[in-house]
Amino acid sequence: MRILFLSSEVAPYSKTGGLGDVSGTLPGVLAERGHEVVVLTPRYATVPKEGLSLRGTLWLHFPFGAQWAEIWETRAGNLRTLFVHQPAYFERAGFYAEGGVEYADNHRRFAFFSMAALSAAQMLGLCPQVVHLNEWQTCLAALALKRGYESTQLGQAKTLLTIHNLAYQGIFPSWAVEELGLPWELFSPDGFEFWGQMSFLKTGLVFADALSTVSRRYAQEIQTAEYGFGLDGILRKRSNVLRGILNGIDSKLWNPAEDTFLPARYSKEDLSGKEACSQALLKRFELSSAPKRPPIFGMVGRMVEQKGIDLVLGAIPKLVEAGARMVIVGTGEQRYEQAFRELAGRFPKQVGVFIGFDENLSHNVEAGSDFFMMPSKFEPCGLNQLYSLRYGAIPVVRAVGGLEDSVVDASGEGVVDEVSTGIKFHEFSLEAFEAALRRALGLFEKPKVLLAMRKRAMGLDFSWDCAAKEYEALYESLLEAAP
Ligand code: ADP
Repeated sequence: MRILFLSSEVAPYSKTGGLGDVSGTLPGVLAERGHEVVVLTPRYATVPKEGLSLRGTLWLHFPFGAQWAEIWETRAGNLRTLFVHQPAYFERAGFYAEGGVEYADNHRRFAFFSMAALSAAQMLGLCPQVVHLNEWQTCLAALALKRGYESTQLGQAKTLLTIHNLAYQGIFPSWAVEELGLPWELFSPDGFEFWGQMSFLKTGLVFADALSTVSRRYAQEIQTAEYGFGLDGILRKRSNVLRGILNGIDSKLWNPAEDTFLPARYSKEDLSGKEACSQALLKRFELSSAPKRPPIFGMVGRMVEQKGIDLVLGAIPKLVEAGARMVIVGTGEQRYEQAFRELAGRFPKQVGVFIGFDENLSHNVEAGSDFFMMPSKFEPCGLNQLYSLRYGAIPVVRAVGGLEDSVVDASGEGVVDEVSTGIKFHEFSLEAFEAALRRALGLFEKPKVLLAMRKRAMGLDFSWDCAAKEYEALYESLLEAAP
């Protein structure tokens, strides 16, 4: 199949979270499986031009702002990655925001990106059968293919929109309709209007041929008022074309047996290297390991409400009291960053905090931790718990979204079962999270049971092959569907 894949983040070029990981891996896996895949993404300041070749310059007709873009390319086998280069929009210090403040022209930036991507596909004579869109940043392409490109070959492509996180919708004041030259007749509840504003994501939900999200459970959750962020109605309406496909992980990059970021490597057959990683992590954060090796609880992620940061902050004093160590890596809302810094100051020998984005450290936290905390309010898929399973850091998770789909709870105190891989709790409350952490501490006192669970977790296969096959089947069903 010929697939055009649009994403505002593609690792290793750009990444703020799971979207970057997915877009950096899935297209390559599909290409390896014999498909012709072209990825389109902005050329941010993080993407050097060295190694890229210039494929041409486009002229776009926007009522406002920049009108041209250069298209740069790199190839690896069947996979082509095209970068949309427009310095005024994309060569900035951040991808979407700076100093915690969203760029005021994000509507223009990503409308521009979507239009430039389609225009680049035409200029290069690409004839995709499927255009795979990701998140609100690419949603205007779904509309443009149906209104504007409909009489071209490109307009015959089927569109799939993957929702990676429904909390991010790209909502702008109604004047964005004028500024972007969009048709006013679509500014209605059946079109892209969302309570008097213009919604990019809703545009995609209405105009894409098919929708998917990143776990089965999340596909159900977003059809409810509790998790639907006001879009549950339209998602219920389109539930016949909505699928949930659990993300995979890059199992070459995230493999404790070959991970060059780690001070020692290990596998489920020989876990001695994991202990070396734990010791190194304690040392790196200058945490005490006296009187005996303490249980280590890790966390890596965006410091936003979604991730249950309030619960983690609330639980730390009790964990300290229980003799545990915590290593927290992340960046996000300033109030959270500040609160973690304060806790590290209060408990310098028990709590290690790194505020910032550090790929190397994220691997070391997974490897060095005994337990990994993800008490999320909601979690579309979550990749960190998949990395944790692979690295033998038992995930302590709230039973939502992809966490529910990927972790098997150790029910009961003894955990003498053959299937459990983690610890789950249900209610979003400090009490429930603390009870789960107590179960983790109890497990740490039973090294044999813990070891068996670790090995089981490490033996699971969350590689992309499985997910890639599901995407293939979805693309195929789209091509077979009546126009
Ligand atoms: P989300 O997409 O909601 O941010 P995921 O768990 O799906 O959450 O993916 C997060 C990805 O981003 C993981 O690869 C994680 O390791 C990485 N990540 C998040 N914050 C940091 C950080 N501060 N440093 C390094 N990696 C990070």
